[in-house]
Amino acid sequence: MAGITKFDVVVIGAGFAGMSAAGRLARHGARVLVLESRSRLGGRATAFPDRDTGELVDNGQHVMLGCYTATFAFLNEIGAGDHVHMQPHLSVPMIDRRGRRSRLTCPTTLPPPLHLVAGVLDWDGLPWRDRLAAFAMAAPLKLARREAQPGARRRAASPGETVENWLIRNRQTATIREMLWNPLALAALNQSPARASAPTFVRVLGEMFGADSRSAAIVLPTRPLHQMYAEPARAYVERLGGAVRTGVTAKVRIDGGVVTIGSNGERWTPGAVISSVPWHALPDLFDDVPAAMADTIDRARRMESSPIVTVNLWFDRRVIDEPFLGLPGRAMQWVFDKRTVFGGDASYLSLVSSGAGPLVDRLNEELIAIAHHELLDALPDIRAARLVRATVVREPRATFSLAPGQPARPSTETGIPGFFLAGDWIDTGLPATIESAVRSGHRAADACLGRQASGFSL
Ligand SMILES: Cc1cc2nc3c(=O)[nH]c(=O)nc-3n(C[C@H](O)[C@H](O)[C@H](O)COP(=O)(O)OP(=O)(O)OC[C@H]3O[C@@H](n4cnc5c(N)ncnc54)[C@H](O)[C@@H]3O)c2cc1C
Repeated sequence: MAGITKFDVVVIGAGFAGMSAAGRLARHGARVLVLESRSRLGGRATAFPDRDTGELVDNGQHVMLGCYTATFAFLNEIGAGDHVHMQPHLSVPMIDRRGRRSRLTCPTTLPPPLHLVAGVLDWDGLPWRDRLAAFAMAAPLKLARREAQPGARRRAASPGETVENWLIRNRQTATIREMLWNPLALAALNQSPARASAPTFVRVLGEMFGADSRSAAIVLPTRPLHQMYAEPARAYVERLGGAVRTGVTAKVRIDGGVVTIGSNGERWTPGAVISSVPWHALPDLFDDVPAAMADTIDRARRMESSPIVTVNLWFDRRVIDEPFLGLPGRAMQWVFDKRTVFGGDASYLSLVSSGAGPLVDRLNEELIAIAHHELLDALPDIRAARLVRATVVREPRATFSLAPGQPARPSTETGIPGFFLAGDWIDTGLPATIESAVRSGHRAADACLGRQASGFSL
């Protein structure tokens, strides 16, 4: 059965990229249809009801940074600006492998990157020799910041260089790497610093320690993820005359230059189409791969993925007094207390392992034991607390790999008029993050709107 063509733009995928594209298009008066294959919105940043308790559980803790400017613009636009909490400045409590607790705080009185250097000099989590290594990073951080500006020529790192090699080249000691740079790189890149290539990390540092001292502040969602942004975005798009449908797996057909979307007998021929599906889902969008997409699809097929493992632990009482703690040098690098964000007296902790290749195939019981053991090792005082429940969430394809030699990321334009790509894996220069997804979504929306401005009727 042929559907009635009544939408200007069809957006495929309802994650951060798709919903931010749809929001921007709707605001500019386009009639938008979002198609999502799953039954719930949010893609890789979503929440689901726990099988036993019905409590909403994120598919993995998501952390944003003060430099996520496009993300905050998107959240504000859809009326969800208060669904996140931003620190006034970067402040990270940590417990090292010997159980020593410390806090890295960057003063707001100094401009970046000096605020970081000053923060590290004042950080008693590191011996003096290692604190002094921070001085050697001032120049590379300044270069990283300049590199983020258009037209920059000098590069702080080369594409074949790993993060670890780059840090060593910049005289960062093993201790400061373990305590500061490695947790940061793992969180930002979701890949071991020994594997991930340096330029993307440099880009993150350039944005974090760029414009103002708040750019590095940590921002946490204050609601389960799909409620934080995807449902408000749906309401926003619908209010502006668009539609968002779940359980619809889209297929794309290009016939004589016309882009048609089909799913289960329905068909749409809008003025423009944005695919925001991840790299590994792009090949399945087409039954017949158009020649203009052959190279992009080949590269998407060759992109490797990097996993994240989350272990959720419920205790019978409150066990940590911070919204989050860094556990550098351990398999689970961060622990978040969801109750300090969502409210409540007991503790519901999420322990996160990024770049979790070595863990992802372990049994649930083993992962729970590792997480519980590491937590007790870091916080021996909580031994009296009873572990009530534990669950494991694996995301084997959480992000794309940033290892040197991976295929080049595609751009928004595809060579097919009216067919655009979005998604965190598009060539934004950022790693696979919410901010990359939103920037890609905005870019794709602007490309559609530009097409309209150039005379094409959406
Ligand atoms: C556990 C975990 C933790 C993370 N932590 C962080 C973090 O702390 N900070 C951070 O910034 N980022 C983090 N990320 C990364 C972040 O979640 C992603 O970068 C971002 O959500 C990607 O959004 P997207 O819209 O590009 O893709 P997705 O969210 O993958 O959305 C694509 C959507 O397309 C749909 N789709 C696919 N094929 C079709 C089809 N044929 N038809 C219709 N729909 C289709 C999919 O179902 C999906 O919903 C994390 C990711 C994971 C998994």
